[in-house]
Amino acid sequence: MKPVSLIKTHGLVLKSIDYGEADKIITLFSNNLGKIQVLAKGSRRPKSRLMTAIQTFCLGEYVLFKGKGSLYILSQCDVQQTFYNLRTNLERLSAASYILNLCREVVQEQEANTLLFTLTVSCLNLLCYSHIQPSIIVTAFEVKMLGVIGYRPHTVSCVLCSGDLKGQIAFSAGLGGVVCSSCRFKDPHSLKISHGTLNTLRYIQDTDIKKISRIKINESTMNELDRILTLFIARRLEKIFKSKDFMKTVFEDLKKEV
Ligand SMILES: [Zn+2]
Repeated sequence: MKPVSLIKTHGLVLKSIDYGEADKIITLFSNNLGKIQVLAKGSRRPKSRLMTAIQTFCLGEYVLFKGKGSLYILSQCDVQQTFYNLRTNLERLSAASYILNLCREVVQEQEANTLLFTLTVSCLNLLCYSHIQPSIIVTAFEVKMLGVIGYRPHTVSCVLCSGDLKGQIAFSAGLGGVVCSSCRFKDPHSLKISHGTLNTLRYIQDTDIKKISRIKINESTMNELDRILTLFIARRLEKIFKSKDFMKTVFEDLKKEV
């Protein structure tokens, strides 16, 4: 018999679903294998040593071997982080769930994306352990994710004519960036943006995620950024994210309570 070769990979659980009597199939975001499906046999049995490893948000060193087709089988896991505190705060949990949802959409099967992996883990750490407003962390994730997957919005000059961005400018999701005061009429769906919002967008694009705590975003800038990014992401990924709507409902309800 051919010896089974074990594969060790740093991974984050994006989703976990029941399978059969006592198993789970997890969608793992692997640092070097991209998005993979992993069968965790017997993991729903009481006292299973894989019980923590199969939870959504679990981060660890996963030891796998190849199963049938594209499926992997979980052998063991050295759990490093469970981001447990997220579960005690609905605002932060809804933000983290939206981030995982975006990852499930953009991470390709069996294709490494180390930059996105690091960005995702950094944002989960910020949501779990920092006092930074969750809406800022989510916005930063969206902006940086777009850059990592090759959809960085053009913000240095007009995306159409390369002209200076003066006067009333707008953001065109269809054209992929900011348009100048003359070109903005060429896309009837472009959204007006203020220079303050443009500067914030550029700042996030160019600043390390770990330094994001320095940023302050007022409500009107946040609303503009949110509209632009929601539209741009829907356009590029051809998908509307219900988890973002849910997150926003949670954010709004909390504002009313204050
Ligand atoms: Zn222009």
